[in-house]
Amino acid sequence: MQSISSEDLMGMHKDDYQVIRRLATRARLDHRPRYACGLCGHAVYAPREPRTGLPYWKHHPGAPEDCPWWTGVPSDVDGISGRQFDGAQESPLHAKIKNIVGELLNADARTRPGSVIVDEYLVTDSGRRRPDVRAVYDGSPIVVEVQLATTQIPIIIQREDFYDSQAYRLLWLTWNFEPPPVDGRLLSSFEDIFYSHNKNLFAMDDETVRLSRQEGEVVLRAFWTRDHVWMSKLVRLSELYWLPSGRAFAVAPAPPWHEDFLTRWRAATGDHGTRWPERETLLAELVTKLSLGDTDSYALEEADIDSLINCLLSLLDGHPVGSQQKNLVEVLNTFFYAGRRHRYARLVRRFAELAGRSEALKARSVQAKLATALAVRQDDPQSIIGRIALGLFPDMFPSRRTGPRHNSSSIASDQYT
Ligand SMILES: [Zn+2]
Repeated sequence: MQSISSEDLMGMHKDDYQVIRRLATRARLDHRPRYACGLCGHAVYAPREPRTGLPYWKHHPGAPEDCPWWTGVPSDVDGISGRQFDGAQESPLHAKIKNIVGELLNADARTRPGSVIVDEYLVTDSGRRRPDVRAVYDGSPIVVEVQLATTQIPIIIQREDFYDSQAYRLLWLTWNFEPPPVDGRLLSSFEDIFYSHNKNLFAMDDETVRLSRQEGEVVLRAFWTRDHVWMSKLVRLSELYWLPSGRAFAVAPAPPWHEDFLTRWRAATGDHGTRWPERETLLAELVTKLSLGDTDSYALEEADIDSLINCLLSLLDGHPVGSQQKNLVEVLNTFFYAGRRHRYARLVRRFAELAGRSEALKARSVQAKLATALAVRQDDPQSIIGRIALGLFPDMFPSRRTGPRHNSSSIASDQYT
């Protein structure tokens, strides 16, 4: 069990929040609580507060009203959806767009003739749904759902799960999408489908409709962000990359810096370690990116940081990286052979456990080395080495990752003890 305070939730990166938002929603749909109130223990989920857009913890229905953190009775999903169009099931614009999508799919040579069906029930063993448009496109069954404003996350996830279970691809489509200003807020329901599509959004508008008709092929407008700036381009439906989830993207999001760094580090690493001069360039990048202003690449070199990174990568992969050792036991024994690396023992041991490599730690030779190494003063998470480990492997230290960025010092010390 791990606690995530409201402050943590508000301070966390959007990508991390989206993970919690989806897990909490799925738990709610499955009636299997995943997050619980720290005071009353009732199940909670993590919506965004509509006015401020900030995420918060909200009790599921049935929570004790005397909980000091009680947040009122949540509306049920159907109630909210029903109210959106004053009880009417659908807006005229929605009806118009799905007919256009049907028309454009029909005119596209990649669509199997006769397969386009607009607004009819799809009935299967696991239930029924009424997709806006479905067809067999490029040999694969696909559903297009038009998303105009406020479809809620439980409905989004239910539909994704349903179509996924039926091996349908699913494209969420918006109309006349206008990106928010830099650092502005994306409507929650758009943010949800943005994550569904690997951080892309797809839209149609008068121009894409005209182009589609002209070319006899479905043309969309794809949106994505780079360094918080929205970008867009025209893309054909046939050019999209489909994920195993059944959703597509046009432009892959830039990998986080640490992943990109490790990819380049691995590329510069062979059986004899990490090559110079790439090694020096990469160590200098660590200093800049992790704001290690109190050191430089020379000092990192002296401190055997390259060996440490390769040792951690070996533990992560489950086999030696950057050496000719035969297995992890040899990697660990060799690593701790050098006395100047003894101060990293606590980190390495914790990392091995988190990576599921506890077996290697149990070898008698490793136990002996660790006992000697742990007798010296160990580097802590605030040390240069601690900051490098957390910066390069944030996913290995989950409680650090979801912690608030503004006061990380208050939850520090015992993270890899
Ligand atoms: Zn409570």
